[in-house]
Amino acid sequence: MDLTPEQRIEAVRSAGLPAFRAKQISNQWFTRLDADPQSWTDLPAGMREQVHQTWFPTMLTSVSEQTADHGTTIKTAWRAFDGAIIESVIMRYRDRTTICISSEAGCGMACPFCATGQGGLQRNLTASEIVWQVHDAARRLGSGEFRGGPGHINNIVFMGMGEPMANYRAVLAAVRQIHAPNPDGLGIGARGLTISTVGMVPRMRQLIDEDLPVTLALSLHAPDDELRDEIVPLNRHFNVDAVLDAAWDYAAASKRRVSIEYILIKDINDQAWRADLLAKRLKARGDWGWFHVNLIPLNPTPGSRWTASRPEDERAFVEHLERAGVPVTVRDTRGSDIDGACGQLAANLDARTSN
Ligand code: SAH
Repeated sequence: MDLTPEQRIEAVRSAGLPAFRAKQISNQWFTRLDADPQSWTDLPAGMREQVHQTWFPTMLTSVSEQTADHGTTIKTAWRAFDGAIIESVIMRYRDRTTICISSEAGCGMACPFCATGQGGLQRNLTASEIVWQVHDAARRLGSGEFRGGPGHINNIVFMGMGEPMANYRAVLAAVRQIHAPNPDGLGIGARGLTISTVGMVPRMRQLIDEDLPVTLALSLHAPDDELRDEIVPLNRHFNVDAVLDAAWDYAAASKRRVSIEYILIKDINDQAWRADLLAKRLKARGDWGWFHVNLIPLNPTPGSRWTASRPEDERAFVEHLERAGVPVTVRDTRGSDIDGACGQLAANLDARTSN
């Protein structure tokens, strides 16, 4: 999963095997989702051990699994080779399955409302550590071991731990692996892929040039620089105008609606006038369906004094946006009772075992 299809052929050749083995191996891994090289019967028995040892080390080991929402939300904590812990979350709905994956161990963006941001950055993940999360979920969904029977992944969101744009190369390599048709990759449509960012403008622009029709989500959370400087520290480098301009450019180039993420925090960013200002700043850049606002009720995180908005304030915020003609939805809070919801992924194994 760290190699392009061409590099796989190279690798196989330099290990003294014929080139066609690369395709067989890719087929077992990406098409059949069989994670055990010992059972790859199209390889000679004596070769399987070599293939296993050389190219398929265990990238991530599951160290804990928690379920919520009657078994339809599954959060997995993973340990990497160096002890770094990351998390991913599978969410099954009636008509689709979404997986939320991590791009970094920890996060360096330091947003004060986010549990991941409070712990700082440990390190970037490799492409294979990112794709591993998807591969494992696809395999287990396919085998029917989860509540709801066999299924497949419809959506992948880079909304777990980390800032995907800060680990751009590995994230893009992972996206290509996920998107490439079988047997080169997992063959999941780019339309089902969402990359979420706090607004690393140069990377957002670079993504335009990749010409991959992934959906971009922008974690805005405030329509004014005064507040956004406080709650999304990167705003001091790339302010509201700069991130909205880059989001608009992405929408224009990709013809994909950008998702504007907006957490609702009680008495901090949930005033009706901020809804009006948000609508104004979005529509100032045109009203051709380039954005969609996704409101996220704040999920509690340890040590934070902030809480979710009052229901009446949330309603008023939605109404003000709707009145201005802004398409808006409120995200559900799946997994919040297992600290698996937005902003709660902190890989806090100690707290978990003492529960
Ligand atoms: N770093 C990227 C990817 C993580 S996405 C980004 O921030 O976009 C995680 C989403 O959950 C972001 O929109 C983030 O702002 C939001 N979030 C973080 N903490 C949260 C909390 N406590 N409650 C609700 N949403 C939160």
